[in-house]
Formats: sequence, C-alpha cells, structure tokens
Amino acid sequence: MTKLEILHRFFGYSSFREGQESLIDAILSGCDAVGVMPTGAGKSLCFQIPALLFPGITLVVSPLISLMKDQVNSLVQNGVRGAYLNSSLTYSQYRAALRNAKAGVYKLIYVAPERLLTPEFLDFAAHADISMVTIDEAHCVSQWGQDFRPSYLSIPEFIRQLPKRPVVSAFTATATPKVREDILQLLALQNPTVMLTGFNRQNLYFEVRHPKDKLAETFRILEEHPGKSGVIYCSTRKAVEEVCSALIQRGYAAVRYHAGLSDEERQSSQESFLYDRTPIIVATNAFGMGIDKSNVSFVIHYNMPKDLESYYQEAGRAGRDGAPADCILLYSGQDVITNRFLSSHAEENEQLNEEDRALVLQQTEERLKAMTFYCHTTGCLREYILRYFGERSSAGYCGNCYNCNHLFREEDVTEPAKTVCTCVKDLNERYGVKLVCDVLRGSKNERVQRLGLTRLSLHGSLAHLKESRLREIVQFMVMEGYLSLTAGDYPVLGLGSKSAELLQGDAVIRMKLPEEAKPRKKMQTAAPAPAQTAPGTHDPVLFERLRNLRARLAAEQHIPSY
Ligand code: ADP
Ligand code: MG
Ligand code: ZN
Repeated sequence: MTKLEILHRFFGYSSFREGQESLIDAILSGCDAVGVMPTGAGKSLCFQIPALLFPGITLVVSPLISLMKDQVNSLVQNGVRGAYLNSSLTYSQYRAALRNAKAGVYKLIYVAPERLLTPEFLDFAAHADISMVTIDEAHCVSQWGQDFRPSYLSIPEFIRQLPKRPVVSAFTATATPKVREDILQLLALQNPTVMLTGFNRQNLYFEVRHPKDKLAETFRILEEHPGKSGVIYCSTRKAVEEVCSALIQRGYAAVRYHAGLSDEERQSSQESFLYDRTPIIVATNAFGMGIDKSNVSFVIHYNMPKDLESYYQEAGRAGRDGAPADCILLYSGQDVITNRFLSSHAEENEQLNEEDRALVLQQTEERLKAMTFYCHTTGCLREYILRYFGERSSAGYCGNCYNCNHLFREEDVTEPAKTVCTCVKDLNERYGVKLVCDVLRGSKNERVQRLGLTRLSLHGSLAHLKESRLREIVQFMVMEGYLSLTAGDYPVLGLGSKSAELLQGDAVIRMKLPEEAKPRKKMQTAAPAPAQTAPGTHDPVLFERLRNLRARLAAEQHIPSY
C-alpha cells in the first residue's frame, strides 16, 4: 500500500495537510525527523502512517496515559493493531501485552517513558524488530518547556541499547527556539529533517462585509484588484452559475467550477485558471483540493462557509507566494439558514443511529455557530481564527485585518494593569485568571467567599470593567511579560519579569483594544448573537466520537459534495 492508500483506508482522509507528506517521506527514507506543528495540525498521522509502512514495530513514547488511551483506541477502531504499556495496566495485563508484542501482534506500541529502561521492557526491545521510535510531545524533554519530564531524558539511552538504531522522530507543538534546540540535542537526533508549520499567515488580510447587494459588492472588490487572480467561492452550484454569468456579462474573464459540470469542463476551467489564462474562477468548495497556485491575490467568499476549518482552508489558497492577499467574506443572515439546510441534508444518513445523528448535528451546529460569530466579532479576525485552531493567541491585535484597522483604538491601561499586578501579588501568585478577575470585579461567588477574598482591599476595585475586557488586559500583560501563566490543566497567574517595573510606576502600558461589540443594525435572521470570544476547544469525547464517525462515513463516501 502507498501512504495515500493508508490515509484513505485507515484514517478516512483524502489528502494530506501542510507538512504531513514531507515529514512522512523523510521518515520513510530513513531520516530522523522533527515535526513542530500547532495543536490539531495532525502530527499523529506523520508517524502513524510510516509505522504502518515500516516492516517492524514503532514505539511511541507519550507522556500521558489519557493521550495513549485515546490514540490507541482510535487506531484500533480504524483497524490498526496498536497497544499501550503504562501504569494503567495491571501487572498481568502488562505481561500479556508484552507477550503479544513479542509475538508481533502490534504495529504501534505506545509506552510511557518510565518503562523504557526497565529490565522487562529492555528484554522485549532487545529481541524485537523496532523500525522507529517516535517521541510525541517531545518538548517534555526540555527544562525550558512547561511540562518537563525527567524520564524523557532516558530515551537516547534506551535507543543506544537497541541492537540496531531505528529511525527516531519527534513531535511537538512548542516552537520556542530553546525547546527546539533541546529536542534536537537531548534526544540525540541525527541530521533530522525539521518541519515547522504554523497556522498564522501574516500576509493574508481578513475582512467580513455585510453588504445589502452581494453582487454589487463583488464588483467593488474586483475593481479594487484590477487584473489580479482570484477565487470566488459560492456555497451552491446555482450561485456559481449566477455569479459567473454576471461577471462575464460585465466583461470580466471568469470560468466556473462545480461538481455538476462535466469532467472536461472542470478540467479546462481549472487549467485555464492555473496557467493564468483566466484570472477569476467562480467555484464551489469542490475546487481547490491539491491546487497549488501561488499568485492568487484574493479569495472572496460569496457565502459564509459551514465552518472555520473550511473557511481558513479556502481563504488560505490566497497568497501562497507570501505577497499580500485579501480574504473577504460577504456575509448575510441567509447564509446561516442555507448552511443549516445543507447540513441537515448532509446528515440524513441511513447509516446513522439516533444517537450518532444527534451528535453530528450538535457538532455541526457548534461549528456553524463559531463561523457565524467570526462574521460578527469586532475583535481581531486573525486572532479569532487562530484561537479557534488552538494556537496560543498573540496580543489580540494583528494590524492586518479589517477589524484591527478600523475597530480598534489605543488605550492607556497602566492603572488597571497595576491593580491586576498588585492583586496577583496579594494573592501570593496562587490562582488562575478566573479567580483574579472575579476578585477584581467584586464577585461574591462561592469560591471568592470561601477563600475569604471579599475582605481583600482590592476586591471590586475594577468592577467598572467588563469581564471580557479585564481578561483581554490580563492576557496582554501575560504576553508582554508583566505577568506569567503556568501551563497545565489549572494555569496559575504569577508575576512576570516586568512586574517590578510596573509596580514601581516606571511603565506605561498602552494596548490596542477592540471597540465594544454593538449589534449590527440589520440582522436578517435569527442568527446566533454576536460574541467576542471564540468557543473553546470542543468536548474531547464528543470530538473523538465524531471524528471516528466521520472517518467511517467518508470511507463509505457518504459525505456529499455539492
Ligand atoms: P496534533 O497531534 O498535531 O495536535 P492530531 O494528530 O491529534 O493533531 O490530529 C488532529 C486532528 O486532525 C485529528 O482528528 C486527525 O484525525 C485530523 N487529521 C490529521 N490529518 C488529517 C488530514 N490529512 N486530513 C483530515 N484530517 C486530518
Ligand atoms: Mg498530538
Ligand atoms: Zn487583526
């Protein structure tokens, strides 16, 4: 099987994401490799696919029992032979798993770092055919990282004891230079291929317009981009037809592309666009997979897509050459209704039982909501997208989106910042953002009462600030080093390297803040209310189940394309 067949067969996906293929190729050629990619980018596939193609076993060193369980469970559900060895197993379960491993039952074995140098595991490893050792969450090897795990340091020693040095690959989402250096050195990687990808594409300018007349607005945008190459995405074939004819009538050179056209016409549209014979293509989301045209200078979304994943992928086809490019979404309330209609049909599926269908609908609705909020936020659009994808947010101001350029104003926040800093200090750097904000805003909630914090002199001293605004200030202070935030499940606020400067009164802090959200005048439908913040990461259990479900459906080709 080829890597692409494996991607289809075992994982249910049709194409690779950025960085995956070159990492897989490097690993398959026998190179050590490091993948530094944001959370959710798809690092697991980069080692799981080679693992299935290598003749021997792949050991995956992973720091968390829950992580191992999740990954192994979904592998097994996808028909991959995998197992984990960690302290959640009883001794006899552990022995049994090792016996199976020796008998060659597993292709992938997830193992806790503490196990590696134990006599039993070493004995197994000495006689096993190990093709690759993968270190997941590789930043744990570094003391500069937030989750240092001393046992990660024993990995190279383990590898040295193997009869034959396997390929070694390492993956992390932590991209700071010090951590990266540690990964290369402390894991003793040999001439590794390093792949670094990030979600942020600084050259893309984002804007959402709420026009009364989308067609007129489209012409306006085209006039702003004379002679440039661009894609206009529509959500239906009908819209593609209408928009494309209107453009041609106006004298623009444009071709159309959707799944309802003959193979020949699609082929010819695509090539005409690719080779710069026709600058504009009007298309449904059927267009773009695997297309690599570097000089696309604008992407217009004539309709709001169904989720931010789709939006960012499609908008991201602009500016591949690194030149400035515009991503403009034309929103109307009707788009929400259309999407709801399309998705309710997409999920009308015989294969789904009641419970699964409810799950799919719930998830689809959640994504649609996040997409709709994007169209209404007054905060930084780039920030919103990056946060949705779980990337650690920047300062909340990118300077290259419509909102940043028009809806932000600069404000002196020195005084509230000082107050926040003093409060963190008074609380002995023991609590998280939520509690600090609660105290400062004068909350008398149960936790604040129980800890006796209503007696604090600073209690309520920032009551005039909205919670979202206060959080923005705290976030900014962390970013700028006035405060620090620990990693982990319960991040704790502490003083930062610049706290003293602030408390001594030597600092002036100015930050760009979004205007308060005011509802758009005309909401044509019962679209979800505008919100300032992106919804957090999805419920992991739900997400996992849905992923499996989607994989199954995709494998059976029940995901319709329109
Ligand atoms: P990471 O470890 O980088 O945070 P994961 O490996 O857990 O990310 O993958 C995140 C999600 O992306 C998973 O649901 C995974 O199945 C999915 N995914 C990975 N590669 C692809 C791909 N090529 N196409 C579609 N989905 C993918
Ligand atoms: Mg991962
Ligand atoms: Zn911005």
